[in-house]
Amino acid sequence: SRTLPAGFGRAFVLTLREAFEGAADDLGDLDRRAGDGDFGTNVRTAMKHLDATLETDLPSSYREYLTALYMAWLGVGGTSGPLFGMFFRDLAKAGEARGDGPGEEPGSEAGADVPTIAQFADALAAGQATIQKYGEAEVGDKTMIDSLDPAVAALRAALEADAETTSVEALFAAEDAAVQAATATAQTTARRGRASYVGDASQGVIDPGAAAMALVISSARAGADG
Ligand code: ADP
Ligand code: MG
Ligand code: MG
Repeated sequence: SRTLPAGFGRAFVLTLREAFEGAADDLGDLDRRAGDGDFGTNVRTAMKHLDATLETDLPSSYREYLTALYMAWLGVGGTSGPLFGMFFRDLAKAGEARGDGPGEEPGSEAGADVPTIAQFADALAAGQATIQKYGEAEVGDKTMIDSLDPAVAALRAALEADAETTSVEALFAAEDAAVQAATATAQTTARRGRASYVGDASQGVIDPGAAAMALVISSARAGADG
């Protein structure tokens, strides 16, 4: 089945770290216009936790990189902290699907536990289900689900459409869908989270969580392409 490169976990997480740090101010501005303004700080806090882990305890496998990322987010307040934390925990679990056979030390061989692209797609879907279970948001409520849902659908459709489609091509399709959907949240009114308190004032403003989730998909694509 279609693979992801051995360095996928590291490249994905380090690319996302750069993307989050670069976008934190803009994401904070969006949350200020249609929310309570703390999302930029929440992103920065998560990345500070991640940096601390990377400095003290360098990950050596897909699962360890994703675990550092999910632990970093679980240490953050706001709605996004636990939701991204549980989402990335589901992505980390995909690293258990391979390379953890009997007697096999997880991560003993670099890249040994990297999921296939199909397993990664399943993990994204599991993460979406977790976010929706706890956050109770539906597609269209102007949340991170609005960009994640079409990304998962596009990824699966690309993988199912043609056995020759590569992992990177499929992730490009997912990225396109996520970016377009995040942009389209500007046309919707928030029904979840702090942004729902401002009602129609959220009209015209892109949902920062949806934009952040598009960065996740885009970083996965970059990580697979590296
Ligand atoms: P808070 O609303 O607690 O201030 P943050 O500012 O940390 O949370 O995160 C805001 C983002 O979280 C929103 O842009 C939205 O995408 C996402 N979000 C808020 N509530 C939910 C929910 N119930 N389900 C999914 N995502 C949500
Ligand atoms: Mg907020
Ligand atoms: Mg808040």
